[in-house]
Amino acid sequence: MNILERFHAMEYGPAPESREEADLWLGSRDFSKSLYIAGEWRAASDGKTFETRDPATGKVLTKVSEASKADVDAAVAAAQKALPKWSASSGFDRAKVLYAIGRGMQRHQRLLAVLESVDNGKPIRESRDVDVPLAIRHFLYHAGWAQTLDKEFPDQKAVGVVGQIIPWNFPLLMLAWKIAPALAAGCTVVLKPAEFTPLTAILFAEICERAGVPKGVINIVPGGPETGEAIVNQPGIDKIAFTGSSEVGKIIRRETAGSGKKLSLELGGKSAFIVFEDADLDSAVEGLVDGIWFNQGQVCCAGSRLLVQESVADALIAKVKQRMSRLRVGAPLDKNTDIGPLVDKTQLERVKGLVSEGAAQGADCWQPDFTLPSSGYFVLPTLATGVSPSNILAQEEVFGPVLATMTFRNQDEAIEIANNTRYGLAASIWSENINVALHVAPQLKAGVVWINGTNMFDAACGFGGYRESGFGREGGREGMLEYLAPKAAPGAEIKPASKAGFQRQGDYDILSIDRTAKLFIGGKQVRPDGNYSFPVLDKKGKLAGESGQGNRKDIRDAVAAARACKAWGEATAYNRAQVLYYFAENLSGRAAEFAARLAQLTGAAPQAARAEVDLSIERLFYHAGMSDKFEGRVHQPPSRAVTLALNEPVGVLGVVPGDDAPLLGLISMVAPALAMGNTVVAVPSARSPLVATGLYEVIEYSDIPAGAINIVTGYPSELTAVLAKHDDVDGLWVVAEADTCTYAEVESVGNLKRVWTSNGRAIDWTSDAHNDTFLRRAVEIKNVWVPYGD
Ligand code: NAD
Repeated sequence: MNILERFHAMEYGPAPESREEADLWLGSRDFSKSLYIAGEWRAASDGKTFETRDPATGKVLTKVSEASKADVDAAVAAAQKALPKWSASSGFDRAKVLYAIGRGMQRHQRLLAVLESVDNGKPIRESRDVDVPLAIRHFLYHAGWAQTLDKEFPDQKAVGVVGQIIPWNFPLLMLAWKIAPALAAGCTVVLKPAEFTPLTAILFAEICERAGVPKGVINIVPGGPETGEAIVNQPGIDKIAFTGSSEVGKIIRRETAGSGKKLSLELGGKSAFIVFEDADLDSAVEGLVDGIWFNQGQVCCAGSRLLVQESVADALIAKVKQRMSRLRVGAPLDKNTDIGPLVDKTQLERVKGLVSEGAAQGADCWQPDFTLPSSGYFVLPTLATGVSPSNILAQEEVFGPVLATMTFRNQDEAIEIANNTRYGLAASIWSENINVALHVAPQLKAGVVWINGTNMFDAACGFGGYRESGFGREGGREGMLEYLAPKAAPGAEIKPASKAGFQRQGDYDILSIDRTAKLFIGGKQVRPDGNYSFPVLDKKGKLAGESGQGNRKDIRDAVAAARACKAWGEATAYNRAQVLYYFAENLSGRAAEFAARLAQLTGAAPQAARAEVDLSIERLFYHAGMSDKFEGRVHQPPSRAVTLALNEPVGVLGVVPGDDAPLLGLISMVAPALAMGNTVVAVPSARSPLVATGLYEVIEYSDIPAGAINIVTGYPSELTAVLAKHDDVDGLWVVAEADTCTYAEVESVGNLKRVWTSNGRAIDWTSDAHNDTFLRRAVEIKNVWVPYGD
C-alpha cells in the first residue's frame, strides 16, 4: 500500500517498538537465580522454577525460580534483620533512596515498558504512557512522605515487615503502589509478583540494587499461590497488603484473623459507566475505549457495566459498535495496537466461557468482524446488550474486553442499578451537567468516581474499594496510614469473661433497681425477643438489676433499624454536631446519677466515677465539634483535574466497647461513628450494662433520630458473632478478649466488612489519642475526579 492508498484507507501501517533491549536482558541474565533475598540473587531452595510466557505468541520467555516456604522464611528473616536500621534511618535518608529508585526506573523506562508488554501482553502505548510513568511517580511522590513522616504522623511508627502479594494485570504499577509507601513509612518488604508476570519485578530489584537500597529492605520472591500462602501465614510478617481477586482476598482475611497482622485488600470490581442523556456521547465512547478495552479489560476498576439512559441508548450503542469496529487488535509491541492478547490461556478460556454463558442467559453478544492473530491469547472485544441485572455478565467480574449494557430511565434508577453489585471499586459518570454528576457521585457505593472520564490515577489520590472490593487505600495520605502503627504500647490482655455471671445462681434478695432494662431498637425500648434477662451484680456481688438478654433476632432487628434510619446519614454535618452537643448537654444534666451508677456497678471511687462521666461528656463535645471538621481534601493531580477526597460514612457499624470504663468506652466508640454519619448497633459492657441502658432516656430526648443508635445488651461474644456474620453490617469495632476478636475477623468474610479489633487488648479510654483514630475508622474515603478545561 502506498501513502496515497493508505491515506484513503485511513489505515495505519505497522509501527513496532523494538524488543532488542528486552531480549538482550532476557538472554544475558541468569534466571536460575531469580529470587532477590537479603540483597543476593538466589535459586529456589528446592530448585523449583516456573515458566513465564509471551501472551502474544504463547512461547516461553524464560524460567524463573519459584520461592518455596523456606525461601519465604529466609526473605522474612532478611526483612526482619534490615528493619531496625531502615525504620530508624532519617526521613531524608529514606527519601533519597526512594528518589534514587524513581530515577533508576526513569533511566530504564523503555526497557521496563517493553518487558512489561512482552510478559503481560499489554499494548506498548499503555505500558509506555501509563504503567511505567505512574510507577515512577509513586516512588518520587513517596520520597516526600518519607521525609515528612515524623511531622505528619507524630504518634505513628513503621508497622514492621510487610508481605505484599500482587496480580498480573499491572505488574510494575502494583509493585510500585505497594513498595513505595512501605519504604516511605520505614517498613521492609517481601513482595511476590504474580506467576504470569514476574519479569519487571526482577528488573526492578536490579534497579534497587544499583540505587543503593540496603540489603534486606526489599525482597522479591516470585511464585504462585503456594508462595503467596507462605507469605500470608509467615508469623514474622506484621502486615499483609494484597491485590487480587475477592475470592483470594476472603481466604487471606480468614487466614490472618487473630494473627494481629494488619491487612489491606484491593480486590475485584464490576464498575458502572453511567451515561446520562445530556452527556457528550462521542466523549463517552472514547471514555469507554479507556474504560473497558484498556489493558484488554483486565483492570480491576474497568467500566464493565455500561448504564445508559434510555433516550440515548440506541444512538450510543450505534456509536460504540462503530468505534469497536475500528479498534486494532494485534501485537502488543505495535504502537497502533489498542487491544493485545489476554495474559494467559486460562484467562482466555475463562473470558470466552463467561461470554457464552452470558449469551445463554439471554444477552445479545456482538463482536466486530475482524480476524484475530493466529497465535497468542487474543479475544474479540464483546458488546453485550439486553443484559438483565441477574445475567452473569452483569454480576461477575469478567476481567476481559467485555461490556455489559443496561438502560435506565432516571437518576434514581441509574444509582440503583449501579449499586446493584457486591463490589464497590469505581464508577464513571457522564453528563454535561456538573450538578447532576456531583449529586450522583456521593450516592454511588464506590471508592473512586470519575466524572466525564475514566481510569485516572495518581499517587496523591487514594485508590481502593467499598464493600467486597476490599478495604484500605493505596496512594495519598490515607495510603501511608496502611503502613503505620501507633507508637503507644498495646494495653493489658483482656481475660475471657465467664458466662456463669449471666446465669441465675440462686435468689438475690437485695434489689436496688426494681426493674429489668430493655433493649433500645429503632428509637424504642423493647423487650428482648427471647424474653430472657440476666442478673447484673454490683461490685459487692449484690443484685443491682436485670438486663435484657438480646439474641440473634434482636441484633437483626437492630441492624434493620440502623439501616432504615436515613435521616442521620442525610443530616448535614452541622445538624449532627448540634445533636451530639445536645446529647452531651443532656448527659451532663444527669451526671451525678450516672456517676453513682458507675460507682455502684464498677466499684469505682465516687471521684473516679464522676471523672469518667465528665470525660464522656468532653468526648461527646469533641466529636460533636469534629462532625463538621473531620473533612476530606482536594488533590491536584498532574492532569487537568481536581480530585475531591470525600469522607463518607462506612454505613451501619457494630460497636462492642468491652467492660473497662463502661460509659466512656461506649461513648468513645459511638460518638465518632455518629459524628461521621454512621448508624450504630452497640453491644455494651456485659458487666455493667445498666450504664448503657440508663442512656436510653438521654438519647430519647436528644433529638437523635430513631434507629441512629441501637443498644442490644447480652453476652458480647455471642452478639459480636452475629454482628460479624450479618451481611448488612458494614463495619465492626470490637474490644474484647482474643477469641472474640479472632472470631469477629473470621466471620466478617461474607461481605468483607471493615473490622477493627483491639486484638485481645484493653484500650485506655482516658487517652485522647484514640479520638481521631476512631474518626478515621468511621469513614471511607471516596475520591471523585473532576476534570476541567475544554
Ligand atoms: P488472584 O487473586 O488469583 O491472584 C493475585 C495474587 O495472589 C497472585 O500473585 C497469586 O499468585 C496470589 N495468590 C493466589 N492464591 C493465593 C492464596 N491462596 N494465598 C496467597 N496468595 C495467593 O488474582 P489475579 O487473577 O492474579 O488478578 C486479578 C484480580 O485482581 C481481579 O479480581 C482484579 O480485579 C484484581 N485487582 C484488583 C486491583 C485493585 O486495586 N483493587 C488492582 C488490580 C487487580
